[in-house]
This record gives sequence, C-alpha cells and structure tokens, in this order.
Amino acid sequence: MLQSKLFGKTTKDAPKDEVSINAVFLSRGGFIDKLSAGVYSYLPLGLRTLKKIQQIVREEMNAIDGQEILMPALHPKEVWEQTGRWHDPGSEVMFQFKGRSEKEYGLGWTHEEVVTPLAKRFISSYRDLPLALYQIQDKFRNEPRAKSGLMRGIEFSMKDLYSFHADQSDLDVYYEKALNAYRRVYERCGLDAIVTEASGGSFSKYSHEFQVLTPNGEDIIYYCQSCKYAQNKEIAELQGGDTCPKCKKGTIGEGKAIEVGNIFQLKTKYSEPFKLEFAAEDGSVKQVLMGCYGIGPSRVMGSIVEVHHDDRGIVWPKSVAPFAVHLLRLGENETVTKRAQEVYEKLMKAGVEVLYDDRADISAGQKFADADLIGLPIRAVISEKAGKDVEVKKRSEAKATLVSVSEFIALVS
Ligand code: ATP
Ligand code: MG
Repeated sequence: MLQSKLFGKTTKDAPKDEVSINAVFLSRGGFIDKLSAGVYSYLPLGLRTLKKIQQIVREEMNAIDGQEILMPALHPKEVWEQTGRWHDPGSEVMFQFKGRSEKEYGLGWTHEEVVTPLAKRFISSYRDLPLALYQIQDKFRNEPRAKSGLMRGIEFSMKDLYSFHADQSDLDVYYEKALNAYRRVYERCGLDAIVTEASGGSFSKYSHEFQVLTPNGEDIIYYCQSCKYAQNKEIAELQGGDTCPKCKKGTIGEGKAIEVGNIFQLKTKYSEPFKLEFAAEDGSVKQVLMGCYGIGPSRVMGSIVEVHHDDRGIVWPKSVAPFAVHLLRLGENETVTKRAQEVYEKLMKAGVEVLYDDRADISAGQKFADADLIGLPIRAVISEKAGKDVEVKKRSEAKATLVSVSEFIALVS
C-alpha cells in the first residue's frame, strides 16, 4: 500500500476529549475515527488490525468445531420477553425503540434470545448434539462510561459462541476446550491473559474471565504471582498478600485489569424458557445444556495498544499489525526513488504486507515519527545514506542495521 494514497492521516494531537492511551494512539495514527463517545469508524489501517484479530478468533473457534453464522442485530421484543430480560436485567444496557405499527425492537447486546430458538429449530435428537455456533458481529450496549476508546464501546465488535450439549460431562469437556482455545487467541494476539474466576450468575459457581493487567483496566483482580491462579475482586475469597491456595507457594498480588473475554456455563438457563429439548438415546425427553463464550475483538485491539506502546506510539505484535513492514523512502532523488520502488515491488512479490511511505515533501524526521506512531514491526529505510543497502530496525528495538536488499527480503518473507 502506498502511504501517499492511504485514507487517514497521522496527526500530532489526539481529539481533546480522548484520554485513554489506545484512543489517543489509534486516533493519532489514523486507525480509527470517533463519531461519538464509544462509537468509532475503522479506517483502512484500523480495519486491517481488527480483521486480523477477528481472523485469529475465527480460526480458534473453527478448531473447536464452532460453525460460523450471522444473526440479526435487530431483535423483536417478543424473544426478550420470553426470558424476562426485556425489562430486567438487560433493559438498562439495551437500546429499545419502536418501528412501524408500534412494534418494539431492541439492538442485540448478547444473543441467547436469538440463538436458543434458532438452535431449537434444528435440534431434536441426541444425534444433533453437541453443537457449537458462533458469530462475529457488532453488539450495542448503552454503556454509562464510554471513555476508554476501543476498550468500552457503545457499538463494538464481539465474537459470541454458544454450545449445546446432551449432558453435564459433555458441557464440561467442551468448556475446557473453549478455555484453551481462548488462551491460544490471546497468546496469538500478544496478550498475556490471566484466566480469572468470576461470578457465574445463578447457574454456576464460577465463570471464567480472561483478564489483561494494565494500569487503565476497570476491573481489579487478585492473582498468584507464581502460578497465575486468579479471582475477580467482585467475588474474591482471596486477598492481596495471601499465600496462593492453589500452588501453596506464590503470593497473591492485586492489579488493575481489563476483561478481554468471558466464558460461562449457562446450563439450562435459556433452554428452559425456550423449551430447547431433545430425545435422548433411551427415548426420554431432556433439556439441552448450554455454554456461552464471548470475546470482544475491538476491546482486544484497544488492550493490545494499552500493553504494547511507548511514548512515541504503538508497538504492534506481528500477528495483528496492519502491515508487517514500513518501507520509508528518504529523499526524492532518482536513484533513491528507483531503489525504493524496486524493494517495494520485491516485497509485494514475496507476499510481504508492506506500507510504503512514498510521500513527497515530508521530512525524514516526520516519516520516522509517523513510523513510530503507526508501530509496524519492521521499519526499512531506503536513502542516499544507506546506499544500495536497506537500513532495518525493529519497532521494539533501538538499533538499526544495514543489510543487502536480498538479505532484507529473505528476513521478512
Ligand atoms: P464489562 O464487565 O467490561 O462491562 P461484560 O462482562 O459486560 O464486560 P460480557 O457480556 O462478558 O462483557 O461480553 C463478552 C466480551 O465482550 C467481554 O469479555 C469483552 O471482551 C467484550 N465487551 C463487553 N462489553 C464491551 C464494550 N462495551 N466494549 C468493547 N468490548 C466489550
Ligand atoms: Mg463479562
């Protein structure tokens, strides 16, 4: 991609009402644009990263037999009345309004009320189980505090998976599989997510949250500094300074964290009101057991920035960087321009995702500052000074090295 043609420009200052680190760097870098509190457009750079995160999530959900579907965001009141959540609890976060003929609708903030009747249309026998369905879609929540950029959206991206089982042991096995799939998602996104016990609502003792320690997190967790056993403060039996009850060695620390995922055993909470039942092998009729599993890819994107940045900008992990290489051309002279164009074409031929800063009349200092702000993993400079070689520097390191063009291509492909 030629930077001269890229929609979205870097800016020196963030919009003045943006305070969180992720919103400041993502806005300044030209990744996102704020339409209103908690409501953002994704520009080409930002959308590339969001899609990479969503793709990682998709691959890991497919690997645990999840089947991707897409449900409506617009929900008629009736399905929500069936579970009692049109009024309570849920009515506070749900945008509710009237369509024509006074028909009432709400915007989806979660999808149990849609997926359960959907699954019921096709589940009748034990042979139809287990089943796992997921979607990646924008959710809408009337959040009271939307001041943290992508970390708390009013419209935001969520992957929600729902699983359906014949018995508790099958649900337990799948729940464990999903937990491990979640671990892989965060690991691939460059996040160190701590599996944290949290309140499970009325049907399970615990749910599991995936929490990333960050000074701007809105949750407080207690976690073992040795084995990483953790509990959310809201339910915690643990206290800071305790010896870990699990490993009996580590000390419990306290930290601010952001919840990047949450998995629950719903059991029969939704199969009951929707009468989601199946004929068991012995002919008896039983209720289906359910689990639900949520990740917010947009919050994951914000959290990555909160964790991976320095005072100059973002330091993207390679797996989610919008491009792998930032190629900078310094100077306008013919030789340099020709060399840079050749390297750009070679990179593209080798299948390397490259953003080529071909902008004219921009100083070297400005190009370097923009490269640091945008934060692609590798910066490669073509200049008179570098001669026939390429000056290569990792965003995460200070030192640049000169390598030949062929070495460079081999290094990044
Ligand atoms: P929180 O306690 O932070 O409000 P939640 O517990 O209400 O989140 P869940 O209903 O568990 O969120 O949603 C599943 C996942 O969706 C969360 O773990 C998070 O990654 C993401 N998510 C939830 N709310 C938001 C939001 N307002 N903006 C961005 N992502 C969100
Ligand atoms: Mg949650």
